[in-house]
Amino acid sequence: MSDSNFINEINKRRTFAIISHPDAGKTTITEKLLLFGNAIQVAGSVKGRKNDKHATSDWMQMEKERGISVTSSVMQFPYSDRTVNLLDTPGHADFSEDTYRVLTAVDSCLMIIDGAKGVEERTIKLMDVCRLRDTPIIGFVNKMDREIREPVDLLDEIETVLGIAAAPITWPIGMGKAFKGVYHLVNDELHLFTPGQGNIIPDDKRIQGLNTDAARELLGLDWQAFADEVELVKGASHEFDLQAYLAGQQAPIFFGTAMSNFGVREMLNGFVEWAPAPLDRVAGGERIVAPSEPKFTGFVFKIQANMDPKHRDRIAFMRVCSGKYERGMKMRHARIGKDTRIADALTFLAGDRSAVEEAYPGDIIGLHNHGTIQIGDTFTQGEDLKFTGIPHFAPELFKRVRLRDPLKAKQLHKGLRQLAEEGATQVFFPVANGDVVLGAVGSLQFDVVAYRLKDEYGVEAIYEGVNVSTARWVDSTDAKQFAEFKRKYETNLAMDGGDHLTFLAASRVNLAMAQERYPEVNFRATREH
Ligand code: GDP
Repeated sequence: MSDSNFINEINKRRTFAIISHPDAGKTTITEKLLLFGNAIQVAGSVKGRKNDKHATSDWMQMEKERGISVTSSVMQFPYSDRTVNLLDTPGHADFSEDTYRVLTAVDSCLMIIDGAKGVEERTIKLMDVCRLRDTPIIGFVNKMDREIREPVDLLDEIETVLGIAAAPITWPIGMGKAFKGVYHLVNDELHLFTPGQGNIIPDDKRIQGLNTDAARELLGLDWQAFADEVELVKGASHEFDLQAYLAGQQAPIFFGTAMSNFGVREMLNGFVEWAPAPLDRVAGGERIVAPSEPKFTGFVFKIQANMDPKHRDRIAFMRVCSGKYERGMKMRHARIGKDTRIADALTFLAGDRSAVEEAYPGDIIGLHNHGTIQIGDTFTQGEDLKFTGIPHFAPELFKRVRLRDPLKAKQLHKGLRQLAEEGATQVFFPVANGDVVLGAVGSLQFDVVAYRLKDEYGVEAIYEGVNVSTARWVDSTDAKQFAEFKRKYETNLAMDGGDHLTFLAASRVNLAMAQERYPEVNFRATREH
């Protein structure tokens, strides 16, 4: 392939995730995007197929019962002349760590806001994460088929609560039963809503120009009021500024209804036009990797077990950062310095797994993992490189694990190490005794781990309270003080699942005392993978 083709493939890529509060419409809009991408024929089939496929898996059953999505998938689809990669973020608030890592693998985000509810708590948190890397955000105000809040108030709330300038691109014409469509402020075009087309690609009816007979006819007596409103909105809001959007300072905002599949097309058109193609990535030291570099690089941001219950495999999700993946190529697993031939990487076309022949920067490929790959690992074509920025958060909740059958200790350790490696939980092995302590960021993680230990490893685990309330990864350049610290605090020390030394404290006060006593020891609340 020539260089210009390679560059062309990169520039076509748009890799993004959806951020929203539960129930805002993420699943619904995902389905409509797949419809536009011709990845499905009729909306409604995504959920159905997912359920059929995993009907035998109790694990999925649990997920369904709880109404949450703990697995995160990748969907690739073509739209216009682009190749779009949509990374699904787990829906439940408990899985913030997992979501965080998905957000390190995208170049931009789509934010969905329930028009009746406005900016909600989880969206605020996710925006905080996006701000760390100035991720560009496009906003979609959903549920215009209902009586929602005043659009002007919603813009105001986005600006004040989320701290990002809002630039309306489309503006709703009415709402609820009187919803007629949207007016494109930039193109001076009316897009007309036809109800009842939610499960298909809807008609694309337009009127060019607000100041036209056709528009006056459509709006009737409301024309003047709407024209005045548009003038007001234009005067009072930010004009779209591509550079400000790309810098993460301004969010273009669209209005519509995901359920009725309206306004989504306009948003998608804006998205593929403006959203950034794969961006440069920071690696250790001064190294910045550009997607156009000829040599392959990528990093693993997620590991997921048992995607296919029949095969019990684990898949490592890798974002391609530069160069090109070709089936059968040799890659260096940088952390362990080993070269391996990768013949069977997967892509995720609309949720279906298939063997991939080639993949470009921005694409996500799945590697079969037999236990050697960890979250954060970098793969290259020989260079010793480590992509940074994929942290691991110190857990805030702890439990001791006991076995119902003590003979299963080996399976327990294996299961917990694998689940920890996947990021489902964190595991600590105290240095001074044979305990096993689990750490989590959210309490639901404990239930999930117990369930999976039983389902996948045949181990019945019982949880007990443990006198730990906070954990810190410790290291030091002062060998003498570090040795003294380790002697003094031996009963507080543990190795985590990746064999890193950890300090487990009964309380914040204990932690503060240890920090005061040993100023040369670093107590880290996050650890880079
Ligand atoms: P998620 O939790 O963000 O994935 O939200 P879902 O896509 O599952 O939607 C949550 C609920 O809102 C479901 O009952 C949807 O049918 C409903 N919903 C989604 N989009 C719209 C919309 O445009 N209008 C209305 N009235 N309901 C919607």
